[in-house]
Amino acid sequence: MSPEKKITVKKQAYTVNDELADEIRFLMKEKKKLFFNIMGSVGAGKTLLLENLAQRLSKYHRIFVINGDIATTIDSDRIAQHGVKTVQINTGGGCHLNANLIHKELNKINLDNYDIFFAENVGNLICPAAWDIGAQLNVVVVSITEGEYVIKKHPIIFKNAEIAIINKCDLDGLGFDSDILVEDASKIKSSMKIIRTSAKTGTGVEELIAALGIKVPKGEEYA
Ligand code: MG
Ligand code: ZN
Repeated sequence: MSPEKKITVKKQAYTVNDELADEIRFLMKEKKKLFFNIMGSVGAGKTLLLENLAQRLSKYHRIFVINGDIATTIDSDRIAQHGVKTVQINTGGGCHLNANLIHKELNKINLDNYDIFFAENVGNLICPAAWDIGAQLNVVVVSITEGEYVIKKHPIIFKNAEIAIINKCDLDGLGFDSDILVEDASKIKSSMKIIRTSAKTGTGVEELIAALGIKVPKGEEYA
């Protein structure tokens, strides 16, 4: 295939994906559902954060979690323990979710049976940034164990996210200060909502729930 031809084919793939992503977003909005895309490296803490969210939210909302994974069901099994419905998409080597994969899963279920949808994207900070999956908010999780340059080196995924989570803040001060990451994230996008969390201790999870716009019934609180 000539290089020009290759570029055209790739462009078409993105266009088809983006149209389908818009369709998913439109449908979710119409049905008053929330849909969030959780991105981040392997080991950033995406699954543990989702466990925290599932544990707090499942009492009040019907949650559906789509886990993107190259080969295993480890993550969806973990999250399912917290009383939410999960499905694993094994991408068979594919390093990101796309709108088509999400669309296929959503077609298998009755959307009316759920209130909030999460997708845990495949663990990497590169191509999930380029593939819109139709979520209303894109969330990128980095942990302070990924080093002080992790945000500077991956600007595109942060540009395409509305919320940046600086996770494992229970380890803050070991090596470098997480203020560097907070500063980098806000430099890339001034409107970025930045939340420090520890999925291990639960710190910041309530703040994240509020940032996602998820409400608890009046007079109740998450715990
Ligand atoms: Mg995971
Ligand atoms: Zn990929």
